[in-house]
Amino acid sequence: MKSLFISDLHLHPAVPEGIRLFQAFVIEHARQADRLFILGDMFEYWLGDDAVEFCGYGPIIDALADLSSLNTKVFFMHGNRDFLVGKDFTSASGSKLLQDPSVFDLDGHGVLLAHGDLLCTDDHAHQAFRAQTRDETWQQQLLAQSIEQRDALARQIRIGSEEGKQIKPESIMDVNPSAVEQVMRENDVRVLIHGHTHRPAIHTFELDGGPAHRIVLGDWYQATGSYLRHENGEFLLVRYPDNTVQAHLRID
Ligand code: MN
Repeated sequence: MKSLFISDLHLHPAVPEGIRLFQAFVIEHARQADRLFILGDMFEYWLGDDAVEFCGYGPIIDALADLSSLNTKVFFMHGNRDFLVGKDFTSASGSKLLQDPSVFDLDGHGVLLAHGDLLCTDDHAHQAFRAQTRDETWQQQLLAQSIEQRDALARQIRIGSEEGKQIKPESIMDVNPSAVEQVMRENDVRVLIHGHTHRPAIHTFELDGGPAHRIVLGDWYQATGSYLRHENGEFLLVRYPDNTVQAHLRID
């Protein structure tokens, strides 16, 4: 079985190179895979399933629908940008929604999949934002507003997030090692795959007397992407489109 993992594409029609890169990735790589896991922040923002046309996301959904109608199973996890993705999106794209975090049996190995922001426990402001935006009542109230009102709010949030990033120390925006150990212990896994931090790498460390691995997916930026490939017990973290291998890991 061949599985691919991507996250943090931050797709938006304002950056058409990004959408073209994703479409090329689908044709060159995803179609040949058995599974494609999208671990959050595929979209720069998501105003609701009723705003696909308004946001110009149609071609991306079409690419996913083509993929899932062939032989690739598509799994989608919310990120902190596209937490409003709902059932209309999953049915239109043929994808299956994964909870954050989720354990997945990858060819006999339990791996924990997460977007990653849940593990950035030192960023208290983000955790408060996350708790609010994942609240069902808050989401319902937001979705009751017009698309234009939601668009204005999303703009404000993005400006605030950019300003926040400039004053936050680097370490606060990374995962907290104790939070990583705790979630891996709770879910009884030796491998964690997440995105969000935009720091692609494979980290190996000791957990309760044995080796454990944290695989961080890379972000996509204009004409450069990143994906993780798993086949026959080997993980390869690859830059796209030049397909340079940045890190690898074998688990037996
Ligand atoms: Mn994120």
